[in-house]
Amino acid sequence: MESQPVHEIYQSLERWRELPAKHQPAWPDADKVRGVGDYLRSMPPLVFAGEADTLKEEIAKAGRGEAFILQGGDCAETFVDSVSAARIRAKIQTILQMAIILTYGAALPVVKIGRMAGQYAKPRSNPLETRDGVELPSYMGDAVNGHDFTPEQRIPDPQRMVDAYHRSATTLNLIRAFTGGGFADMSKVHEWNKGFTENPAYKKYEKMAEDIDWALRFMSAAGIDSPNLRTVDMYSSHEALLLEYETAMTRIDQRTSKPYNTSAHFLWIGERTRDVDGAHVDLLSHVRNPIGVKLGPTSTVDDARRLMDKLNPDGEEGRLTFITRMGASKIRSILPDLVEGITSDGRPVTWMTDPMHGNTITASNGYKTRRMEDVVDEVRGFFDVHIGLGTVPGGVHIELTGDSVTEVLGGSEELSEEILSQRYETLVDPRLNHRQSLELAFLVSQMLRD
Ligand code: PEP
Ligand code: MN
Repeated sequence: MESQPVHEIYQSLERWRELPAKHQPAWPDADKVRGVGDYLRSMPPLVFAGEADTLKEEIAKAGRGEAFILQGGDCAETFVDSVSAARIRAKIQTILQMAIILTYGAALPVVKIGRMAGQYAKPRSNPLETRDGVELPSYMGDAVNGHDFTPEQRIPDPQRMVDAYHRSATTLNLIRAFTGGGFADMSKVHEWNKGFTENPAYKKYEKMAEDIDWALRFMSAAGIDSPNLRTVDMYSSHEALLLEYETAMTRIDQRTSKPYNTSAHFLWIGERTRDVDGAHVDLLSHVRNPIGVKLGPTSTVDDARRLMDKLNPDGEEGRLTFITRMGASKIRSILPDLVEGITSDGRPVTWMTDPMHGNTITASNGYKTRRMEDVVDEVRGFFDVHIGLGTVPGGVHIELTGDSVTEVLGGSEELSEEILSQRYETLVDPRLNHRQSLELAFLVSQMLRD
């Protein structure tokens, strides 16, 4: 492995082509796909391998209980929103506000990962969508096709992967600017949180906000003035779904002579593509980034062990995160066996909870939604199981936005089914809005302290 020749590495990155590849677009023109791949290969990396290594160390810490991970962002980013600095800033702001609340609860560093700067491709349960007797390919994310229900828009267009690359670059640039350029100053972020608790619906979190205030004032009085209070590290992530894109973005790192996927710091494999003998697992087995795999309620210990054998055979810490998404009603019965079966293997994994995807429902008026109480309950179940077993709850994975959308039911403002239509903007899954996200952070913060 140490001195594997470059051509062999590149061959290994193409091996997925011989394997079953689920949820790939039916690209109409293979030559065009190849051309796009060549173009992307000629472009600079979006992230550097050394940053991915640093994140791997942070995720290792979370696996040992020395840090906590917050991963959040849209279900699907869109090209339209990618040109709105205000929307990107609101999302970053929301993640930073949540992080400060969680830092206080955990008394641990919070590792911040955006589902941002590349979350442009979606697996769909049905490859076709039918409306009024017309059947067209389903929307698979802006990196594949358009959302409008017309034949022109729905035909997959490989050129969209080029667009996704450039939009990822501009989003990442904003993330780096905002988190490094003073916007992330901890006292400022905390001021925003105080604004939130002044709202009568969230009064119950005021005491905690005051406690955080006290802690910050204490640090300042004691002369604790670390650059960490003014800048933060925020990493990027997305589902590694589009094999052509992910392969083209994988490069050999000059320092280590090993391949890294340079489209994001952290990549994950979705519940629908985690087949251990499939293309997605094979491709990510060859890159050195920290990676995640979503595990839904049908996952077995055997599945998870085989994923470990393939994705982290040597048991490198921080390399592999299992993101469980069982559903609030199932997590307490399903998760314990899975965690025990993996823990007894001895090779480390980091456990995160995605309390969104197992709790999707259809409202009586047809909207795809989730209940805030189910989201909170799944996180609580996740903590209960890990604490009961003496294992480590390492982080949360949330679909959220910084805007005041109305997509998820409940929360202290008691968002109701009738209100969903007011501002339902997501193109795929429902997201917590800005205030629901902060409320969740306060609740999780309490769980971390208990
Ligand atoms: C997602 O994260 O948007 C998603 C599709 O999740 P999962 O693979 O867990 O269903
Ligand atoms: Mn989703």
